[in-house]
This record gives sequence, C-alpha cells and structure tokens, in this order.
Amino acid sequence: MVQPTEPEFEQAYSELLLTLEDSTLFDKKPHLKAVLPVVSIPERTIMFRVVWQDDKGQMQVNRGYRVQFNSALGPYKGGLRFHPSVNLSILKFLGYEQIFKNALTGLSIGGGKGGADFDPKGKSDGEIRRFCEAFMRELSRHIDQDTDVPAGDIGVGGREIGFLFGAFRRYRNSFQGVLTGKGLTWGGSLIRPEATGYGLVYYVEKMLEYASLGTFAGKIVAVSGSGNVAQYAALKAIELGATVVSLSDSKGAYVAKGAAGFSAEEISLIADVKLNRLDLYSLDDKFKAKFDYYAGARPWTLIKKIDIALPSATQNEVSAADAEALIRAGCKIIAEGSNMGSTMEAIEIFEKARTSTSDSSIWYAPGKAANCGGVAVSGLEMAQNSQRISWSTQEVDQKLKEIMINCFENCLNTSITYSSIKDEKLPSLVKGANIAGFIKVAEAMLDQGDFY
Ligand code: NDP
Repeated sequence: MVQPTEPEFEQAYSELLLTLEDSTLFDKKPHLKAVLPVVSIPERTIMFRVVWQDDKGQMQVNRGYRVQFNSALGPYKGGLRFHPSVNLSILKFLGYEQIFKNALTGLSIGGGKGGADFDPKGKSDGEIRRFCEAFMRELSRHIDQDTDVPAGDIGVGGREIGFLFGAFRRYRNSFQGVLTGKGLTWGGSLIRPEATGYGLVYYVEKMLEYASLGTFAGKIVAVSGSGNVAQYAALKAIELGATVVSLSDSKGAYVAKGAAGFSAEEISLIADVKLNRLDLYSLDDKFKAKFDYYAGARPWTLIKKIDIALPSATQNEVSAADAEALIRAGCKIIAEGSNMGSTMEAIEIFEKARTSTSDSSIWYAPGKAANCGGVAVSGLEMAQNSQRISWSTQEVDQKLKEIMINCFENCLNTSITYSSIKDEKLPSLVKGANIAGFIKVAEAMLDQGDFY
C-alpha cells in the first residue's frame, strides 16, 4: 500500500486510518475493515515521458502521471498539477484524498489525480502549449468522458485546460466533456473558476452558524495563497462583510498593516499578476503603503488577531507552530482550501483544542470536505456537457451552496453517529469527513464485487 518513498501518501493514509480506528465505525460495520487495504492501492497508475520543444528549439523532457485511483462511484475525477515538486507520492496522496472528497459531494464521480514535474513559471505561452500537447499525446490514450475526466490544479488553469482540450480533440477526433474547467463558449460551466473558493466560504458559513459564532460580517480572515482558490475565497469573504488581512505566494506573504484588508480591486490586480506568472512582490509599489511584505514567510504567525483561517496554497502549509500561533491569535475556525493543508501534528493540536472549554477552542475542517466545491461544480459541468445544455450562474451557485451545506451536515452527523465520545459541542469534522467518504466508497466497492 504505502511505499517507503511516499511520505505525503503515507500521511494521507495514516490520517484516514487513525480517524477510522478512533471511532465506532468498525464496531458497527466490521465488514468494511477489509476494504481499507484494497481502497488504498490505485486501480491503475500511468507514468510517461513528455518530450517537448522549448522556444530555442531544444528538446526538453518531463515526467507525466495519471493515478486512476478508484472508479466505484463514477469516472475517475481529479485535477492535473504542473509543478516541479510533482512526484508519485504527492499524486497518490492527492488522488487518495480525492476519492473520499468526491464521495462527499454526493455526485457520481470516482477519484484520480495527475500532472507533471513541469514548471510553468517563466515559460512562454508557446512553450506551455507545446508542453500541453506533448502531455496529452500520451494521456489521450487513457481518458474519455466516461472513463477519466481531469481538471486543473496548481499550475493548470483555464489557459492550460484549453490547450489540453484542443490537443485531445485533435488526437482523438472527438469533441467531448473529457476535461472540466473549460472555456464558457466551448463546454465550461459558469462558476467553475469561483467554485472551490466560494464553496469553502459556504462551508465555513455553516460552521459559524452551528458554533453560534455569527456570520462572516465583521470577521478577520487570514488567507494563504494567491491563486485560484485563495482569490475567490477572499472575494466571497469580502462580499460577505469580512476583512481579509493576508494573502501569500511561494515567495512571501502580504499582511495588512492596519484595520483595512484587501479590496476586490487589489485582488483583481493579484489575479493579473498571477495570470502572468509573476510574484506577488511585483505589486509592492502599489501595496507597500497598506501591507507589510514578509519574504519567504507564511501568514499564520504574523497576525495578532484572527477569527477565521483559510489555508489555500499547498499541502502541509500549516505546521504545529503555525497551529499554536493561530490559537494564540484567537482563531475560532480553520478550514482548508488547499488539499492536506495542515500537517498531522497541526491537526492533532486543532483536534485537541476543539474540545477545549476555554477561550482557546478552534474548529478544524479538512480540505477533503471544505474544498469539495471545485470538484462538485466540475461534476455539474459533466452533467451539463452530457445533456448539451448550460445552466445559469444562479442555478450553478445555488447547486454549489446546496452541495456544501449537505457536505457539512453529512460530516457533522456522521461524526456524531460514529464518535466514541457523546455530546461533543463541536463534533470532529475530520472524523466525519473521513468516515462518511469511506463508507460510501467502501459500500459501493462491496456491492460491485471489487474483492474478487
Ligand atoms: P494555483 O496554482 O492557482 O495557486 C497556488 C497558490 O499557492 C499560489 O499562490 C502559489 O504561489 C502558492 N504555492 C504553491 N506552492 C507553494 C509552496 N510550496 N509554498 C507556498 N506557496 C505555494 O492553485 P489553486 O489555487 O488551484 O490550488 C491551491 C490549493 O487548493 C492546492 O492545494 C490545490 O490542490 C487545492 N485545490 C484546488 C482546487 C481548484 O479547483 N483549483 C480544488 C480543490 C483543492 P506561486 O504563485 O508563487 O507559485
């Protein structure tokens, strides 16, 4: 199951295992225990070389991957990541999380993940297009609308999806909904770009309501990252009356000097900078009067007062020390936009503080629940593609909201049902998400005879 060289996958596997074992699940449903070793090995892993030509005419080579992890609930579904850090351990952890996340959306989608160790930064549009075409030359043999439907992730946005989709259409002579996150005029869904960030905020709204903490209005929100998820989470939080006091990228973090946070206009400047693959710091002339810049830092230890933290950059971006700092800053809710945003040690600290009766209590929502809005709207894009229709912004947004509310209630009620501790004020959402996702997938695998 877990190979010695797969630390990220081991972390995701251990987190799931610990929470399942620390519940009454296997007492109440002992037949599901046998599923765990089976669900933890991908149905198929595809690894391939990607040879492409740079602007100087030189041949370059990268490693491409697609982990087709589980199809018991529907076609494999999960993003493609283009980042130099990509390796099989990272893609297996992301694919594994994706199985249970997709189950939590209530839609018919299985789990997968893919990508390449290609760095889009500093590349021209021509180089990106040639890389995408070379990547799809191999991937197109293994995917189609009923088998495996990838989407974007870090380093893969609308432009890359366009190049990948065009390459698939030309190689296979087939126009089909084989990717999600497409352009609006050729099969994309309204609200897909916004979905992960908006969905994260909708999930947190339910947490605030359940914990009797009011609404986003007047709250101080710390966000990390400045890509797709961070931008739309920040915009929705601002729309709901919150003050967003931080944003960051892989080079550093901006933190508000005073009471005023980011405006929608400032986030739009950030979106332009990120589209051009530049660092946040390139905005310093415009930002330095209002924000302090901390090179090489994450925001969590830099802010004195925080109500809500939304990590939205990458895995393991909240360490144990960051977790302690968030609690000291009075943070009451942490919900991950990123996948596996917190280390195991940080989750332990949050879970311990969750039950605290003092002022230091905090409620933690894992990415596989709180960020499922992106894949949920991808599922809605697939539904629109197969019917050859488009829903309006209001329709998609309303469906996204319903999915996030159902996901929250499913996590909450499952946690209450399978917790060995009764009457917890704030039930564990990490347990609830893991157990609810696991039960759905495991029962589908048993029904379909995946054991023979
Ligand atoms: P983007 O590529 O749009 O943005 C990623 C952001 O994270 C950038 O600000 C980037 O900085 C920063 N970042 C990347 N790597 C690191 C690092 N090692 N340390 C610090 N910062 C880093 O990606 P998304 O916004 O799409 O994804 C963000 C997270 O959300 C990921 O964990 C992804 O898996 C998850 N997610 C995304 C979904 C989606 O729909 N897009 C759906 C569900 C989860 P820089 O610009 O300098 O590289």
